Amino acid sequence: MGIYRGLSDEAVLRRMEELALDERKAIAESIACLGEVERRKLYSDLGYSDIFDYCVSHLRYSIGSAYRRIHSSRAADAHPEILSDLQAGTLTLCVVALIAPEFRSRNPVELLAAARGKSKREVESWLAARRPAQPVPPDRVTVRPPAVEPPPSGAQAGPAPLALEDRALAPKPPTFEYSFVASADLHQSIERLKNVLWNRFPFGALDDFLGEVVGEYLSRHDPELKLRAAAPPPVPVQARAGRRVAGRLRDAVWARDGGRCAFVSEDGRRCECRRGLELDHVVPFSIGGRSDDPANIRLLCREHNQRERRRLLGEGELALIPRPARGAAAEVIPKIPPVENWG
Ligand SMILES: [Zn+2]
Repeated sequence: MGIYRGLSDEAVLRRMEELALDERKAIAESIACLGEVERRKLYSDLGYSDIFDYCVSHLRYSIGSAYRRIHSSRAADAHPEILSDLQAGTLTLCVVALIAPEFRSRNPVELLAAARGKSKREVESWLAARRPAQPVPPDRVTVRPPAVEPPPSGAQAGPAPLALEDRALAPKPPTFEYSFVASADLHQSIERLKNVLWNRFPFGALDDFLGEVVGEYLSRHDPELKLRAAAPPPVPVQARAGRRVAGRLRDAVWARDGGRCAFVSEDGRRCECRRGLELDHVVPFSIGGRSDDPANIRLLCREHNQRERRRLLGEGELALIPRPARGAAAEVIPKIPPVENWG
């Protein structure tokens, strides 16, 4: 701050304008560069499963900033004039991120022309005025702040017993308010469920019944819960079998990899992705890799599984390999159903 104290008002204002211009130039350039990182999937080599993870974990952008930058870079890929607008200040990242998802259903040129020079709020109003009425409100989940129990109304003035103070001040976990529109069929099923569970929850609320059903489903199908319940069985290595990975081996691999993508970048960073994991043959089955050897099977996220396929088979050859039909046995590419579907 001190370096500006000795400058005239005019000089300070001029410098501020120069800095703002430099900042807009840097933003436009970083958006263009980010688009190239995503186009080449360069984040994958660094151990990130997607561009969002790379922006937040590696580039240290906030979640909102990462969201705006990714939307903007994708929009600028198809409409490079966005970069000049960002540099000139006629569009901001907030505004581009707001209109970019609308490009699929509206004319992008018209949207960009309408958004130039407008604030985010003005663009929101412009979009809202042109949006068709929503017949069905979207599902909503609202986080409610943790409640603190008030002291009992009949409590004596003066210092209360320590145990009571602790209880009153103890933070409670947050709760979530769900709101969604149910079809007639779902409504009937929920009413039926209430009857079935009546003995258990005679005065139960909807979350009692839903909690029961969700818990029951997860106890049967959640692979992590299965693992917690029992240690993974030893996996015998047998003669070379088919390409399908047996259920016991899947459980063992899941346990060994901790339900997380096993890709490790050259600088030692392990991918943190836990969603949509797939089983990967380290040595592909098509060239002799075993499906019954735990050392040859690992968990990979979709991005890193694709990366390994590109690395081993090359882009050109990969394009020639037909993807197996859903449920059919794959001949060349070891394509495994996502973990969520293992059941
Ligand atoms: Zn990964």
